[in-house]
This record gives sequence, structure tokens and C-alpha cells, in this order.
Amino acid sequence: MNTRDLRFRSNRVSDIIGLFHEELDGMYGSDEVRMFVDMLFEAFLGWDKVRLLTSKEHTVDQSDLLRFHWALEDLKRQRPIQHIIGHTDFCGCRIKVSPDVLIPRPETEEIVNWTICHLAHHPPLAILDLCTGSGCIAIALKKAFLGAEVTALDVSSAALEMARQNARGNGTTINFIQANLLDPAFRLPSPTFHLIVSNPPYVMESERAQMQRNVLDYDPSLALFVPDDDPLCFYQAIALTAQKSLSDDGLLILEINESLAGETCNLLHKHGFSPTLHIDFRGKSRFISAKRN
Ligand code: GLN
Repeated sequence: MNTRDLRFRSNRVSDIIGLFHEELDGMYGSDEVRMFVDMLFEAFLGWDKVRLLTSKEHTVDQSDLLRFHWALEDLKRQRPIQHIIGHTDFCGCRIKVSPDVLIPRPETEEIVNWTICHLAHHPPLAILDLCTGSGCIAIALKKAFLGAEVTALDVSSAALEMARQNARGNGTTINFIQANLLDPAFRLPSPTFHLIVSNPPYVMESERAQMQRNVLDYDPSLALFVPDDDPLCFYQAIALTAQKSLSDDGLLILEINESLAGETCNLLHKHGFSPTLHIDFRGKSRFISAKRN
């Protein structure tokens, strides 16, 4: 592209930021656009917020200007900022993302933080993460509980490839397994775990209509959707796995669909667990912690 076609008034930092606000504030609100700008300057130029604040009159070179141009076009198309810069931060870990994995959500981060605080005085020695996706939960837990052996499972080999890269990038060793939890023949090779966590797919097909375009267009549907006639299929499989593989005093932590909280608690009851429902920072029933009865 000829740089004359770019709509920035100049390659001055203040003009770049100005165009982002002009073109995106209406769509995202100015606070979110400011966050995008901070993230892009950090990713493209390695500038932190202070450097950015004190460099408004500096100029960037043409190749960087072009990257800001494409980022702006992508944001107009609602491409997630995490896909544009290629990563996100999760519990202090840098997690690479791609269309093969769900972008880690702040709700999930809250669950992991809760788990780490809750188990601080009884660190688990063996941890299992089912439907690991990017590996974010497994990696954050491994970093918090360095002595633990962490096993993480997913059905998608593309997701596992990303999870492996993330484990390496964060200096952690995790035992990854490719397997389909829903396959009736599924068996775990390892013995007992003191902590089993999962953020499985839980959005019902009928909820598609209420979902944001950026989620539908960019997150993998394999990681999100479950059939309307069996929306708890993953929880059923996880409960069966936990019956066999959770230690007697072990803890089960599950992210859930807030509209199925009651049903999910009942299912756990039926499988011999006593569930506690937790509300997330948005005020939604978002996760369950459970122990054996
Ligand atoms: N919380 C995610 C969303 O709202 C869904 C995650 C999942 O299905 N596990 O898109």
C-alpha cells in the first residue's frame, strides 16, 4: 500500500492516537480505545504507558505506521485486539492466542486467582485441567504451585500446539494429552489428582443469537458450543472422570454457564459431590467448587 493512502495526518504519535479515537470511540468507547492504543504501542514498539505519554510528539517510521493502519482496520472489523497483537496476559502469564483457542476471559482469571488463594495453604501435588485450550489455566496453576505435576487435556491438536508453545514460553513443564473427553472409551492414564479444573464448552446453540459478533467470528466454536438437548455433556464426562480420579479430599473447580447453574449443581450432587456456587465480578453465577461428599 502507498503510504499516501493512509488516513493518518502524519506519522506523529499524537496523530496516530487521534485517528484511533476518531474512528473507534463510537464503536468501543474512549476508555477501551485508549487501552487498545496502549497495547499496540507496547506490542509494535515496546513502549510502556509512560514512554507513550511522554512521546506524543515523536514520529514512527513508515513500516510501523502501516502496522497501526492495519490494526485500525482490523479493530473496525471487530477483530479482537488479542488476535492483532497475538497474545494476552492471564494471571501474570503471557499467553499466545490464535483462532484455534478461546481467548482467555477475565472471569476465568478470577476463578484461577480464587483457586490459588483457596489452596495457598494446601498446595495440590497433582493437577488436571480438562479442555485446556490455550493452556492458560494449567500454566497459571503450575506457576502458582511449582511443586505440582500438571496434566492438561484437549481434543484439538491445534489448540494443544498453542498450549505447548505457551507452556514453553512461560518456562513451565506440563504433561499434555490429546483426548476426547466425550468419548465413552476415554480413560485417564494417571492415578489421582488433588485438583481438577475445567472451563469446558458450555454455550447452548440457542444462545448464539445473544452473542457478540467478535466472539462468533473469531473464537473457535468447538471451544464454545454445546447442543441444546445435552448442554451439560461435558460436565457429565468431567464428573465421571472426577469420580475415578479426584483424591478423597481433592477439589473440583468448574466454570459454568450461569443460566444452567442449578442443573450443573444437581448433576454434581448426583455424582457424589457437594457443590458450592460462586458469583463472578459481573454478578453472574460463574463457577462451582466441589468436594466429594
Ligand atoms: N465465557 C465464554 C464466553 O462467554 C464461554 C466459555 C466457554 O464456553 N467455556 O464466550
